[in-house]
Order: sequence, then C-alpha cells, then structure tokens
Amino acid sequence: MTERRIEPVEMTLVPFDEVVERFDPALGLEVHVELNTASKMFCGCPTEFGAEPNTQVCPTCLGLPGAMPVVNRKAVESAIRIGLALNCDIAEWCRFARKNYFYPDMPKNFQTSQYDEPIAFEGYMDVTVPNEEGDGETFRVEIERAHMEEDTGKSLHVGGATGRIHGADHSLVDYNRAGIPLIEIVTKPIVGAGAKAPEVARAYVAQLRDLIVALGVSDARMEQGSMRADVNLSLSPKGSGVLGTRTETKNVNSLRSVERAVRFEMSRHAAVLESGQKILQETRHWHEDTGVTTSGREKSDAEDYRYFPEPDLVPVAPSREWVEELRGTLPENPTARRARLQGEWGFSDLEMRDAVGAGALDVIEQTIAAGTAPQAARKWWLGELARRANEQGVDVPALSVTPADVARVQALVDEGTLNDKLARQVFDGLFAGEGTPDEIVAARGLAIVSDEGALSAAVDNAIAANPDVADKIRDGKVAAAGALIGAVMKEMRGQADAGRVRELILEKLS
Ligand SMILES: [Zn+2]
Repeated sequence: MTERRIEPVEMTLVPFDEVVERFDPALGLEVHVELNTASKMFCGCPTEFGAEPNTQVCPTCLGLPGAMPVVNRKAVESAIRIGLALNCDIAEWCRFARKNYFYPDMPKNFQTSQYDEPIAFEGYMDVTVPNEEGDGETFRVEIERAHMEEDTGKSLHVGGATGRIHGADHSLVDYNRAGIPLIEIVTKPIVGAGAKAPEVARAYVAQLRDLIVALGVSDARMEQGSMRADVNLSLSPKGSGVLGTRTETKNVNSLRSVERAVRFEMSRHAAVLESGQKILQETRHWHEDTGVTTSGREKSDAEDYRYFPEPDLVPVAPSREWVEELRGTLPENPTARRARLQGEWGFSDLEMRDAVGAGALDVIEQTIAAGTAPQAARKWWLGELARRANEQGVDVPALSVTPADVARVQALVDEGTLNDKLARQVFDGLFAGEGTPDEIVAARGLAIVSDEGALSAAVDNAIAANPDVADKIRDGKVAAAGALIGAVMKEMRGQADAGRVRELILEKLS
C-alpha cells in the first residue's frame, strides 16, 4: 500500500528528446463540459454563473430526503448532439447510475452519472497537428464514450495561503453548481503519437472546445471551469506494445497547460521508471505557476464506487427519429469549415490563425458576404476594429459595429468617396452612435473632395508656402513630393485622394 513516492523535487527529470527515444507514450483524455441549459440536470434551479452562493438550490439538488429528480430534456438533446458530432453511436436505451462516494460538496453522497450504459459511445475525432514542414497532419483520436452526469458543488477553503485545504482555517460550501449538467467525454488510449503526444493532447482539447462552441451547447471556457480536462498518461518501453501504469492529472485548465502537463508527466514517468521504481497509479495535481504535477491520491482501477442503476429516474430511450432530427441540426465541423473558408478567402496560415484567434471568422464571413473583398474585410476586423475591441476590453464580435457597416465603409473607400483615414473617422461616428456610414459621411462632411479646382488651389498654396521643397522637385528629387502632399492633405483636412494630389504636384513642377 505505502510505496515510497518519488517526487520531482528529489528527482532529475529525463529530457523530453530522450523520453521519446526510449519510451512510447499512451494518452487518455477525459473532458468534462458544463452544458449551458437554463436549468440543472435533475431540477428546475437556474444555472447562471457567478450568483451569490447557495441561492440557486432546491431540495433535489441539495439531496434532501424525499426529493425526486427529473431528467432535463435539453441536456439529453445536447448530449446526443455532442455524441453525433463525435461520430458516436447513440444508445437506444440507457440508464443513469449512482456513483457512491463521500465528498462535502456533493450533498447526496452519490453522484448521478452513467456507468456501463453511456448515452454515446464508439466515436472518433480527427485532430490536426502541425508537422515539421508546417503543414497539418491528421491524427485520429478514438472516443470511448460520452456520458451524462451532474456537477458537484464547490468548496472554498478560507485562511490558507493557496486556497487549498491544507493550512485553511475553515471551509465553506457553495451548492449553486451542484446538479449542473455535465457531459464527460472519454477517449480510448491514444497510442502512436510519440514525440507529438503533447501537441496531440492540446489539439484534441482545442478542437473539442471549438466543436462544443459550434454546437452551441456550452461556452466551454476552460478558465471559468465550464470545460475541464483530466490528462491520463503512461509510458511503455519503446516497441513493447504493453500499456504502462498511468497517472491522471486533474483539472488542467488551459490548452497550454494540457500540452505542458503531458510533457512534464512524460519526463517524470521516464525518470521514475529509469530509476527502477514503479509508477504509482494515482491522481496528480497540476501547478500552473511552476509547471509541475504533484501527487494527489492513490487510485486503483477497481475503485469500488458501488455503482447501481438510479432507481428514481426512468431510462433514457431516444427514438431513432429524434436522433436523426438532431443529426440534421449539426453545424459544419469547425475544422472543415476553417479549411473551406481559408481556401475561399485565400488567407495565409498566419492570417487564418489570427482570424480564428480573434474569434472573428463569423464577422469576416458576413462582411465578405455583404460584398467586401476578403483582404479588406480582414484588414478592418483584425486591424482597426481589433484595436478598438482591445481598448474596450471586449471580443471583436461584441463590438457595436456590424459586418454590414464595415462592408458599407469599404464600399465607400472602393468608390473613392473615402480614404482609409476618413474611413477611420466614420468608425468613430459609428461607435458614437451617429447613424449609418452614409449619414456619418454627410453629417461630418467626410467625403473626399473631388473638385479639381479646389485641389489645384490647395496644391498651388502648398507650392507657394514651401519654395525650397518645390525647387528640389523641379531638380528631379521626386521623393520630396511627400512634404507637399502632406501640406495639401492638411489643408484639405484629409479629404483628398493622395494619389491625385501627387499627380497634380508633379504636373505643376515638371
Ligand atoms: Zn435544484
């Protein structure tokens, strides 16, 4: 029972390159997703994030004697859609099960979950990881199951330095989260990834998150805990084909941490194995700040949760008609959609990554649909508008400017009414709520002056005010024209076509 635990502080990690020379890693990922249903899994309590502690509770989710649960139909629907999007089979008949264990933030002392009858099973997801050439390489991750369960409450440990229970004065429990619907998605062992294992783990969680968001079933925010990943890892001697003893690193809360946690555990496992010790099957805690895992609790495969079918709930038996109807609601796979859009728009990999990173794919797509050239749509949304979003502390899609506005502003640029500088003033007007782009151009008097007489007079004024510059240009130093163009643009309050101004200057001084 009590094997000596070797911790990284007293052990030299094996460098990653050496790990993959001598061992084959096997990954397993368990991802919990909190569904965005309006009410909880088995009662009508609201599910809003951030409410005052213990204000969203009732006898059912507090586990009071005699309270009876009822299954949330919307949660079952979301579970089926997730299963279908992961290419799973959907159970014709399945039950909930009680998973019995004691934990202070779980008021019933059992978690209503699914055991040997998950709602969805036997699926897969193709994930893309970059290879040495920078191209995408596809890696198939097999899905063992996706099952429904309920979340626990939250313990808050007060008085300790780190918010952990050790060293705390006392603990408080908030049951608002108890009973919120969860889907747990479990992969089969992922073997054959070798040195790419950390990236495959990250890419899988990233693509799963995108898929969940595209399905609209959760906001899947890892930093808020509405999506949480547990990372299982084991090593086996290279080529042996035998799975080693695994560890399970809990609640890894960012994509970057998923990759780092796998990398760290691979180096730690190798160090333990090469020192002649055994890997202890246990859960481990990930420490974001130091980038290491530390020992949690020992965990055997045969842990006896005394699962039994939940007697208070009827079985879930989704009709095939309903399943097919839900299949019809699936969005285009986000990875396939990205590849399609990138091809249609002619964006480089970097441009596409920036657009995805800014969450701007939808607004760019809508702007292009409204008639704007792809590069112009990209320029506004990822340049000027991304900068303003950043200033306002919001995401790009949350800006008050719409794709239709951006398309109209660019159309005015294309037809020569605005230049980019004037267009930015139109955006000022849009953010100030001054009306449509056309109304703002009219009200602020922003249109480019195309009156040749007025332009010519401004050019004459600039030449007269800058005789030395004019002489240089007469001597053939055409580069000096910039100073005169600047003077004309200033006099015209920016409302001139700089190209036409340059032509006029050169005509007059040649
Ligand atoms: Zn409740």
